[in-house]
Amino acid sequence: MNRKTLIAAVIGLALLGAVPLFTSNSYYIHMVGTIMIYAILLFGLDIVVGYTGQVSLGHAGLFGVGSYTAGVLFMKLGAPLWVIVPASIGVTAGFGAVLALPALRVTGPYLAMVTLAFGTIIQILINEMTFLTEGPLGIKLPKPFIGSYQLNERGFYWLVFALMVVALVVVHRILRSQLGRAFEALRGSPVASDCMGVSVYRYKVYAFVISAGFAGLAGCLYGYSEQYISPNTYNFELTVLFLLAVIMGGRKTRSGALLGAAIIVILPSLLDDLGMFRIVASGLATLITVGAVVGVIKKITTPKVMAIPVVGTIALAGFSFWLDSITDWRLSIFGLMILFVVYYLQDGIVGFVRSLFHARKVVGLDAGDMASADAGKDAVMVAASAGASEAGSDLLVAQGVLMQFGGLKAINQVDLRVRRGTIHGLIGPNGSGKSTMMNVLTGIYVPTAGSIDFAGRSVVGRTSSDIALSGIARTFQNVQLFGEMTALQNVLVGLHHTFDSNIVDVALNTPRYKREEKAATERGLGLLRFVGLGDLATEEARNLPYGKQRLLEIARALALDPQLLLLDEPAAGLTAPDIRELVAIIRKVRDHGITVILIEHHMDVVMSICDSVSVLDFGQKIAEGKPADVQADEKVIEAYLGGSAA
Ligand code: ADP
Ligand code: MG
Repeated sequence: MNRKTLIAAVIGLALLGAVPLFTSNSYYIHMVGTIMIYAILLFGLDIVVGYTGQVSLGHAGLFGVGSYTAGVLFMKLGAPLWVIVPASIGVTAGFGAVLALPALRVTGPYLAMVTLAFGTIIQILINEMTFLTEGPLGIKLPKPFIGSYQLNERGFYWLVFALMVVALVVVHRILRSQLGRAFEALRGSPVASDCMGVSVYRYKVYAFVISAGFAGLAGCLYGYSEQYISPNTYNFELTVLFLLAVIMGGRKTRSGALLGAAIIVILPSLLDDLGMFRIVASGLATLITVGAVVGVIKKITTPKVMAIPVVGTIALAGFSFWLDSITDWRLSIFGLMILFVVYYLQDGIVGFVRSLFHARKVVGLDAGDMASADAGKDAVMVAASAGASEAGSDLLVAQGVLMQFGGLKAINQVDLRVRRGTIHGLIGPNGSGKSTMMNVLTGIYVPTAGSIDFAGRSVVGRTSSDIALSGIARTFQNVQLFGEMTALQNVLVGLHHTFDSNIVDVALNTPRYKREEKAATERGLGLLRFVGLGDLATEEARNLPYGKQRLLEIARALALDPQLLLLDEPAAGLTAPDIRELVAIIRKVRDHGITVILIEHHMDVVMSICDSVSVLDFGQKIAEGKPADVQADEKVIEAYLGGSAA
């Protein structure tokens, strides 16, 4: 976070905290308090929706679990606040795990269905387990005591405010740490995450459990705030409202969560009051029109794109003055607003405002970090060079590998031996099975038959992340970067394995976490310099030119400290000078003792740097040996001529 954002955040929070000093109207105090409670839940929901990119329709259920943990503990045991708060967080996180472990095996619509079912089941359970929950009667939960003093509306507001600030800080710390990077990475490219040793499944579950913890805290505070809880509150509508709040406010921002919470709390009552609705509709029309004009002048959008939103909001404002009564139209207006946001503000309101002001995302890096990182420059590749001592022995031995897709034998009885410290070329016409071989070696596919031993251990049947951590790193034929993350953050995902600190270290910002983060940042910057991307550390990966993206993938793969590096057509789409640079980098990698398997179509590259070459054709190995011998081989010439003729 940069200084300006920090100052703005502190001022905003101070104002929020001061709300009860400006008004003694308990209706407003309660309303703003509710917004903060919802914001706590949305901070957590955003981890799942905004960062990992999963859809949860179960968060109203989790919110309910939090409320009922508080309610039941109070009613049955008279437990005090300091017991109830941690218990609600813990119990709800537990429920989150129970939901996530099976649910996150599926994605997309299936995940939505499973989480939806969970929400429904929770509501039914609350209704039916009367011995615990009093069923439809609900539970009364008076405002909590601190010591012998019972909090009034104001005191409770400040308690909620304090916990919201704590939640904000904790979420912020989690998301900027290696955990947050893992969450973001698995959304950017699941396959690349797994191949960087960051298990997609494990971190999806982790994100969900953390998110549930926040829902639990919010639910518990909500119970105290309303002083009465009943099953009907935690229904499907609420779950949809939560999702809308995240999307409307803007994913991946905390201010967006607060804004989204404010919208879902205020909007329903707003739509009850015609006068207020007219003011807001006019305000919105003005805002959108001014935004559109600014956007067009600054060339962010075109008049064509902005025409419909401008006309639409002006029409809405006109409509509001034409109406006599709003009650019949409430739901339709609500629905229209939702459609509008989903179509036109896909990054939410905060994202839209940001793009207007061109606020570039600033990575947590300043001049000081850069300078200290220079010191670590030479240390970058030291760890890997240890492997060089055993040069000459076989690092990878694959025997009789068969990979069948239906009737197609993409790889047919291929043997492959790769000696340590060499660059081994893998060539062949398009569709001959080269990429499939890499996918088999990295656990993306399990071979139909055959054995693969890497450094004396079988890789068959192990997960991609496990194989990656044991020392096989790779790049992809179709570049698989984490697009929304910066170049440095991409490499830091590769360095995930260097972190021992857990969520407690991260939340408390302990010396151990700080030390690991600093070391990783230094190494990350060193690796970026190694591939010539030192100046682009803070650039988002998706904005890099294609050639640089390929180099960034190599830097990220090297971050794993691999013994074996698999490169799938690294020179594809590169210009001649870029290719020369790439060749130099691959040589340097080999000189550091890292073994390389190189798939490449540029024959000059293959011939100049490979120590040995295997040739595949229609899934079968047709030749193997020194580059020059292979090049002269009749069968190879025929395969290539045949390949290009066809
Ligand atoms: P190369 O990388 O040598 O160009 P590939 O390994 O990508 O070739 O593909 C080899 C063959 O396997 C192709 O015929 C391709 O269509 C097929 N293939 C690859 N992956 C799959 C898959 N997941 N399902 C079905 N067929 C596949
Ligand atoms: Mg390929």
